[in-house]
Amino acid sequence: MLLDNQTQQTILNELSGERAKDFLTMISRFDRVQCSSGTYECMQMVQGMLSSFGIENIEIERYIADGRKEYWTWPTSLGWEINYGELWMRHPQQMKLADYDEIPVSVVRGSRSADVVAELVDVGTGLEDYEYENVDVHGKIVLAGGPTFSNYAGKVQRQAVIKRGAVGVLLYLNPELSLRPHPGNLIPYYGMWHHADEDEQITFGFCISYRNAVMLKKMIKQDKVTLHARLDAKNQQSTIDQMTCVIPGENLDEEILLVAHLDHYQPGAHDNASGSATLIEIARTLQKLITNKKLPKPQRTIRFLWPTEFQGMAPWLEKNSDIAQRTIAAINCDMVGSNFLKTKSSLNIIKTPFSRPHYINDVVENFARQVANEVVITSPRGESLPLNYRVVPYRGGSDHMFLNDSTTAVPTVMLGEDNPFYHTTQDVPDNLDSTQLKKAMFIALGSVWYLANINSSQSTQLSALVGSKVLRDFSHMSCEVSHLLHSSQPSSLEQNYWEGRNKLQCYLQQNIARVDSVGELDPKNDGVLWREKIKEQLHNVAALYEEQLQDSYAGYCREFTLTAKETKELGEEQQQAQKIIPQRTSLFKGPLAIHLNFALKASGFPEENMKFFDIQFEIVNLIDGKRSIWDIRNAVSAYFGAQSLQDVTQFIKNLEQEKLVVCNMEV
Ligand SMILES: [Zn+2]
Repeated sequence: MLLDNQTQQTILNELSGERAKDFLTMISRFDRVQCSSGTYECMQMVQGMLSSFGIENIEIERYIADGRKEYWTWPTSLGWEINYGELWMRHPQQMKLADYDEIPVSVVRGSRSADVVAELVDVGTGLEDYEYENVDVHGKIVLAGGPTFSNYAGKVQRQAVIKRGAVGVLLYLNPELSLRPHPGNLIPYYGMWHHADEDEQITFGFCISYRNAVMLKKMIKQDKVTLHARLDAKNQQSTIDQMTCVIPGENLDEEILLVAHLDHYQPGAHDNASGSATLIEIARTLQKLITNKKLPKPQRTIRFLWPTEFQGMAPWLEKNSDIAQRTIAAINCDMVGSNFLKTKSSLNIIKTPFSRPHYINDVVENFARQVANEVVITSPRGESLPLNYRVVPYRGGSDHMFLNDSTTAVPTVMLGEDNPFYHTTQDVPDNLDSTQLKKAMFIALGSVWYLANINSSQSTQLSALVGSKVLRDFSHMSCEVSHLLHSSQPSSLEQNYWEGRNKLQCYLQQNIARVDSVGELDPKNDGVLWREKIKEQLHNVAALYEEQLQDSYAGYCREFTLTAKETKELGEEQQQAQKIIPQRTSLFKGPLAIHLNFALKASGFPEENMKFFDIQFEIVNLIDGKRSIWDIRNAVSAYFGAQSLQDVTQFIKNLEQEKLVVCNMEV
């Protein structure tokens, strides 16, 4: 237990899942399209709420977004404003198919004004050239069904409208292409996300349910179907808005950060009105308890940040590099507090990347374990479900990427849940639960409060906690290594043995850094002896596992009648890779933007689950002007499983070609 009983009870008596659910319901009414007035209006509402709680120093920073300007490698989008958008069937029946005023995601973000009557034609997914071979789409509206990714609309626009003269697109979520099982009545959230240079050519898009798409497909086969699209909408230069406030600490030189993106489509209740509301309720709770002297002023400052997801982080971190520098650790809340019966989910604690080992993972995990097993948390209108949580390896996909990247280097854990209704009309407040919200909030608030107040003498307890987790994780990892050897064929035995040794070595270094990270909370070095002892233990355990591995390797060699090799002989390619030391150029700050990730993807990286995205993030983070390409290949192999040296080299060479990296030769 990291907080004393009284502090814990004081917090739990004030923190309210009911309030959080009310806040998220209010937020979910806004169509919070990034860089548009909906987000700004919502932000002003939240600002008003925060000041009514007595929170001072609330700041909104605004940065230019025009669909051209880039911050770091991340492009901005154009602002989008809409007055109305309706789609009607005119023949063979009069029927309204979509209306922005009723369901905002019915209109694709980025759509422009139109008043046009045109025939509807079916183009399958609308992504492939062959789908257009036997159908004339010129002057028509195309019906197309695609995957969950919101950039799908822009791709179909380019194929059907820009390349072939269609007047607009009508989209639905194709259950066969979607990552999750989708009932037929979901309307997907799609955006054009186009560059400003394309704006003149972009027309409009509407979204309907799969059920309605099936109905239209049938009608097209029997008769000519004509639709009438009416929109008043435009794209224009706008701003990216970031809101922040603080609970000031006694010591202003150190901060703990909570992040939750406020922007998104309407309703976006779980994604991410839930995270945004979580931060509001945590801020309210702390402000009230501190004002009423039930909690002391914290030692370190606690900061709250509501960014515009992805594109807001780069300009904010660049402008506020001083804040980033004094931030010890952060938690990003993106989709929390759902009713697990409805979302069939669990709370994921997404760890910091392998390249950023840190005690924050252990602190958050400890609070989650306590909430799952010990602390009774209920809420009047909530379900009484157990907290299911999982501690999972780092993955990107939200704002914690920007903090964990080496440019900013703020160790950041993400709390997030899956949701089959993600990016659809059905991401509604009804799927959120006040008890689960309170549990998620307590995990975040407990962790933040603990870190905001821990001092040198209390850091000994944290060292012990980290020590126990380090030894546990190291043992789990060694089981994976022996399994790898166990499942070897004669042809893969030697390779797997060296991959296993590499994994042991990399995890040893990584876990030593994890133990050492506690040192930043211990300026008086009260716990240094503890940490040294834990590291000594870790070295002993590592030596034991290495010996075990050598023994089993020798055993398998006898079984397969192979000669066991004592040392690894590096091939020419590997020796070459040992001499090349890549370094990021001054142009390359922050994580690689999504479009560049796709463009620079070396062919061999696995595409399933977008894992290549996370491997590339890790490679970029490991490029530090000290590690060689061979070191980097070994580190990512320890974490993600063996990666080919050619793929890693190719990716780094691609970065070099884009002038994002320079490769120095070691002499
Ligand atoms: Zn999100």
